[in-house]
Amino acid sequence: MQYVYGPIPSRRLGRSLGVDPIPLKTCNWNCVYCQLGRSMPLTNQRQEYVPREAILQEIAAALAHHGPGEIDFISFVGSGEPTLHSGLGWLIRAVKDTTEIPVAVITNGALLYRPEVRGDLLPANVVMPTVSAGSPAIYKRIHRPHPDTTFDRLIDGLCHFRNEYSGQLWIEVMLMRDLNDTELALRDLASVLERIAPDQVHIVVPERPPAEPWVKPPDEEGLLRAAALLGPIARVVHPYVDAVDVFGYATAEEAVLSIVTRHPMSLRQLEQVLARWPAEQILAAVATLRRSDQLHVVDRLGTRFYTAAPSFFPNGTSPEK
Ligand code: SF4
Repeated sequence: MQYVYGPIPSRRLGRSLGVDPIPLKTCNWNCVYCQLGRSMPLTNQRQEYVPREAILQEIAAALAHHGPGEIDFISFVGSGEPTLHSGLGWLIRAVKDTTEIPVAVITNGALLYRPEVRGDLLPANVVMPTVSAGSPAIYKRIHRPHPDTTFDRLIDGLCHFRNEYSGQLWIEVMLMRDLNDTELALRDLASVLERIAPDQVHIVVPERPPAEPWVKPPDEEGLLRAAALLGPIARVVHPYVDAVDVFGYATAEEAVLSIVTRHPMSLRQLEQVLARWPAEQILAAVATLRRSDQLHVVDRLGTRFYTAAPSFFPNGTSPEK
């Protein structure tokens, strides 16, 4: 399996079958908190990065392998911005024609200023864009966006999408200390969220390795301030670490590489999510992948994480194997 993984347990989506239609770190933002490192390349070009039919074949294989009730959501997400794939609308419609399982799209929302991208997402059951800034200055500082993806375009695109879309719109706010957790920043954010009128607001904090070493989670006070100022539909959500369905992976090496390509993890987290293999085998798989340069270590937030080799973390990767 190259493009489909899981199902993985998710607090918001239950058992979520992940679909990753974009090569690693191909994105129109270069977020300071990105758990996959810096964006390479930074692009706003929509194209068929991988053949849509190949992705659909893998989704069909995963659905054939799992019985009713084993997958709660099919989620387009992954190692880049999924709306950059020009076949995303085709893929969502094809999945909806195949199964009753609801579809979610986890996106930065930056391309929603384009009517055709909004049209692509209309059949999805849940769309989860990111809004972590309420002003152009903070937006630029946090997301370091491609010049075509401006703050005004993001907010206007989301407001248009809200008017056209009848599914669930859940906004994710990445909250970081001294970046967007001050009272002024949160008041600006609350006012743009009011304009967008989402169904839910999920506050998340950096818990996986941020691209930039200076990014810090908010303290308790910042979290409380955000929960109070962002309104009654806002709640704090933490990632879920539990065993992952490792369908489609013949070896522990394959499974480790597939997981950390999308979600960098510590050794302890890898042992938890890949519980099908004994801990010694996970340790051996990590050592083998390190020797072949397919796995890098990155030290962030006081923890050592493993990530896929092409990722780029300044001042964070360690050369020793
Ligand atoms: S966090 Fe998402 S939007 Fe930001 S750079 Fe990473 S992949 Fe792109």
